[in-house]
Formats: sequence, structure tokens, C-alpha cells
Amino acid sequence: MQIFLARTQGFCAGVARAIQTVEQALEAFGTPLYVFHEIVHNTSVVNNFKTRGVVFVDSIDPVPRGSRIIFSAHGISPGILAQARQKDLRTIDATCPLVTKVHHEAALFSARRMHVILIGHQGHEEVMGTAGYVEPGLLHIVSTTRDIDRLDIPPHTTAAFITQTTLSVDDTRAMILKLRARFPRLRGPERDDICYATQNRQDAVRELARLCVPSPDLKKTGIIVICGSPNSSNSNRLREKGEHLGVTSIIVDHAGELDLDLLKNKRRVGISSGASVPRHLVDGIVARIQGAYTYATVTAFDNPEENIVFPLPRI
Ligand code: SF4
Repeated sequence: MQIFLARTQGFCAGVARAIQTVEQALEAFGTPLYVFHEIVHNTSVVNNFKTRGVVFVDSIDPVPRGSRIIFSAHGISPGILAQARQKDLRTIDATCPLVTKVHHEAALFSARRMHVILIGHQGHEEVMGTAGYVEPGLLHIVSTTRDIDRLDIPPHTTAAFITQTTLSVDDTRAMILKLRARFPRLRGPERDDICYATQNRQDAVRELARLCVPSPDLKKTGIIVICGSPNSSNSNRLREKGEHLGVTSIIVDHAGELDLDLLKNKRRVGISSGASVPRHLVDGIVARIQGAYTYATVTAFDNPEENIVFPLPRI
């Protein structure tokens, strides 16, 4: 058996920055320390902070007046910031700078009185935060091409689009094409707002799929295992990508969730992980497979992202 590790996977610069922000705040101020939403969508990371006294909240209501609170990498709406100020909370903003860029676009289009079409998943923290920068009467959230058919915007209105940062590159491209056909004067970012990390991780799964796609002699037939939490948007998109390219693809939160029966009759295993997944979880999956298949070899590739770092926010 051969194990291939995706070229780009695991922590992106925005996630590394958010986690480091909580670490530094814990060191500087100790507890009580509140974090608005999960700091990143990974069960292991969140549980680790919980055991050290960090309290995660989905509303400002339970946070005592004057407390210290960190806003997660997914960003918050201006309404949440206003509530935090009303309670004199000491705030630290760990919003990824690439999400902040989308907030600026949203606010700009809204200020120009354009209808803003936000391509993203309803209810996702990042989408809720970005939506807050658009005047409610101008906001339209779409998740599928069918949603575009249902848009209630007059055809000659100037509309603009923005996107969540962790979407499927291919699906989003199709949606933007459809929007451009319907709104010829559509404004928006040059391509989309999908971040470098999401794009690179999807490209790396494409590379894994080429290695693991079923072959007639079964010598290359493999499976793709994505390490990521169920609520991680970018991890779910990686699993879908592998499946779409013809390779059986599964998602597991940690090695213990891996059903080894799925590896029977497979010669290759491609492994990747979402942008919020610590490396030790992937190492655990490799160790579990090698425990069952002692002859399995591991191949890794050069990672082009090694030097990408975002500066920490002021704490
Ligand atoms: S996935 Fe992209 S937008 Fe999200 S934290 Fe990472 S770099 Fe930032």
C-alpha cells in the first residue's frame, strides 16, 4: 500500500494566526477568556482550549460586562461589535485578514446602494458576519444556481457579488457565470473571494485524485481520506472534490473515526486535511493505517505555502 500526503493541507495562515492569538491572550491575561464562536472549526483545537478554561459563546449575552473576548477567524458583523462595546468588553479581533477584505467589499457595495449577492452557505459564521456589512434590504444570500433563479432583483439594477472564502472553486465559478449572464453590469472582485488556502487545498486533492483514481488493473485504485471536523466548510469541499473526480472520499475528525474496512482492496490512500486541522491528527491517521498495513509507504510533496504568515492582531 502507498500513502500519499497532499501537497498543501492543514493550517492556513489565518487559522495559525487565530490559534496563536488565543495562546498569547491566555499567556498574557489568563482566564476568564471568552471566544465568540469556535476560534476555528476543529473539534480538537476547541476542546484543547476548553480544557484550559477558554469559554466559547455564540452570543454576547452570557459574557459578563468588562470581560475579554476574542472574535474568531470567521469574523463578526458590526452588530456583534456594537453589542460588545455596549457591555464594555475588551475585544481582540482574530478575524482572518482575507475575511476582513470581503467585509470591506460588502460595506463598499452596500454604501453605493447596490444589491449585494453573497455566495455562501446560509448559517455559516463567516456568512453571518459578512452579511452584517450589507443593508438588509440590499442583501441576497445564494448557495446554489437554483437560488439565483429565485433572486428578486430587477434585471437592470446594478448588482454586485461577493463570496465566502471557503467555497468550491468550480461550483462558485459556475454561479458567477450565471450571475453575469443575468446581470450584465454585475460588479464584484476580479474572480471571487475564495482564499489562496482553499484554492491550494482543492488543487492538492485534484493531484491526489489523479494518483488514486480507479485503474483497470486495480494497481492504482485508492481512496481519499480528508481529516476535518463535520462543521468545517473547506474540509467538506475537499471530500466533495475527491468524490467528484471519481475517487471514493471520506471525511474523519480523527484517526479513531477511520473505518479500516474501507481500505480493503485499496492500493493507494491519499490523505489531506482542512485548513483548521492540526498536523498531529493527520499523523495519527497515517500511524493507524501503518498499524494495520505495516508495509505501507508514505510519500509527501513540497509545500508551496510554507512561508505564508499573517501578522498577529494587537492584544
Ligand atoms: S481558510 Fe482562508 S479565509 Fe479562512 S482563515 Fe484560512 S486563509 Fe483565512
